[in-house]
Amino acid sequence: MKMLSDIIKNLVRKPSTEKYPYTKKKTPKGFRGKHEYDREKCIYCGLCAKACPVHTIGVIRDKKFWQLDLSKCIFCARCEEVCPTKCLKLGNEFEMASDKKEDFIIK
Ligand code: SF4
Ligand code: SF4
Repeated sequence: MKMLSDIIKNLVRKPSTEKYPYTKKKTPKGFRGKHEYDREKCIYCGLCAKACPVHTIGVIRDKKFWQLDLSKCIFCARCEEVCPTKCLKLGNEFEMASDKKEDFIIK
């Protein structure tokens, strides 16, 4: 009897599968995707570089230089947590595969 009710339920319910990549998957709240960096708000304090456990952020205050190499990032979000101006945050983008090293550099 249980089997019969399961069959009927499964016949009428929507499919569990998603049509990714044809429809973009919605990310959950607090998702740690590709960084979003607002150069205009950055004060080049270097706190993000100091907090990064894998040393993948480079900051030179005098030259107003800021760079992040995503290929080494472990997406821990420490850099976002310490940024005083909130100009750096981990966004929702998760499609980052590339065979070009320069595609992993955020400036
Ligand atoms: S998310 Fe973590 S590993 Fe990636 S750049 Fe920020 S502090 Fe570094
Ligand atoms: S912590 Fe924020 S303001 Fe400071 S250098 Fe990093 S991104 Fe810029």
